[in-house]
Amino acid sequence: MDLDLGDTERLLRDTFRRWFADELDPAVPAMERGDELPYPLMRRMHAALGLDAMLARQARGDGDRPDEGRGSSDGGGPAPGLDANAARYARTTFAVEMARVSPSFALSWGASTGLFGANVANKGTPEQVRQWAMPVLRCEKVGSWGLTEPGAGSDALAGMRTTARRDGDQWVLDGSKTFITNAPYADVFLVYARAQGGGEVDGTIQPFLVDRSDPGLSTGPPMKKMGMRGSPTGEIFLDGVRIPADRLLGGGVRRRDHVKSSLVAERGGLSVLSYGIAERCFEIARDYAKTRTQFGRPIADFQLVQQRLARMWVAVSNCRRIVYADWLAGRTLRESAADVCAGKLYCAEMGTFVAFEAIHVLAGNGYMEEYVVERLARDAKLIELGGGTTEIQILTIAREILG
Ligand SMILES: Cc1cc2nc3c(=O)[nH]c(=O)nc-3n(C[C@H](O)[C@H](O)[C@H](O)COP(=O)(O)OP(=O)(O)OC[C@H]3O[C@@H](n4cnc5c(N)ncnc54)[C@H](O)[C@@H]3O)c2cc1C
Repeated sequence: MDLDLGDTERLLRDTFRRWFADELDPAVPAMERGDELPYPLMRRMHAALGLDAMLARQARGDGDRPDEGRGSSDGGGPAPGLDANAARYARTTFAVEMARVSPSFALSWGASTGLFGANVANKGTPEQVRQWAMPVLRCEKVGSWGLTEPGAGSDALAGMRTTARRDGDQWVLDGSKTFITNAPYADVFLVYARAQGGGEVDGTIQPFLVDRSDPGLSTGPPMKKMGMRGSPTGEIFLDGVRIPADRLLGGGVRRRDHVKSSLVAERGGLSVLSYGIAERCFEIARDYAKTRTQFGRPIADFQLVQQRLARMWVAVSNCRRIVYADWLAGRTLRESAADVCAGKLYCAEMGTFVAFEAIHVLAGNGYMEEYVVERLARDAKLIELGGGTTEIQILTIAREILG
């Protein structure tokens, strides 16, 4: 299924595609080597594509606040002057086009503007939105979101060891986080900790706003990874970090929904990245198969190659229906947690599947860096792990369908 694009949608897609081809693509090798950080380019991207103007409208209250559901992990995305459905298309397509070129750039951008920025914008007090969310949404500061710990990955809530002890009008944070996107360079951190004291929130997992300049906070160096190499990942250490009481996000509620709604948004955003990877890999493989000749014919003439391409297309087509579901419906769908997990599970697996199939179609060339698909395949695997592994998506779906 191809999307039936109108003039507006086509213009949006072409604008994003051109910008990412001209500006992001040439920067990818240096970012993958770790010679350049993604953040200065994110700032330029916001200015060039008008994202700052939209965020300023949001801050004045005359635009939509970033959605709570799917797409919010894209930090809102570009929307000025568009009707609601074109804005939905723009948000998804913006992230798709970014991921087609560099999933790791998209991951870092989504973690900063989505998991930190949109999260704080949605759940923070008005002062927290102004002071903490807006600089990150404008890409003036880099944000990161710290849930995972060395001993608490899939079991992030029950296994959490990081604590926030209430001491007078302050919180004192102790513990550590690992595998945190942007942590080595972030200016601001949203970290989860188990509250001790603090009245109503005592014993619950709560999100706290921490600044790099807070004494007792430190971060580790960027970790060396299989893929997503353009996205710095690292540890956060909290050693008696004293922060004022008003750094508790949203003022404190005795609910798990801070983590849950963040994960829903993250999973929606990750599905879009997997789709971008799958779409690009399919196109590279299809075009290659039409021009590469063996036995005197284009390899696309061989039915065994056709079968591989057809199965790749099935995956791309189904992922497309998932990530564009809101736009196709013409409204924001109210999806259950199981729906979001189903989408994330399917898109993540298909992203990896299509990327590795693309390597196979290109064979020796596919294994070479020059043809891009090997990088996209390495990047794709992360999406089966981050935001909850495949098994965690299945467990969440099973819990919901069994009631
Ligand atoms: C590049 C990268 C970026 C990341 N960015 C962030 C970030 O910004 N913020 C953040 O908080 N985290 C981040 N993470 C962490 C990520 O969310 C975790 O790695 C993920 O949740 C899995 O946790 P784990 O690695 O500890 O695996 P584990 O939980 O140890 O799982 C190991 C294996 O056991 C399986 N397993 C675990 N429990 C069960 C069960 N009950 N039933 C069946 N199988 C089970 C898992 O599926 C997996 O296969 C990032 C990770 C990576 C690699």
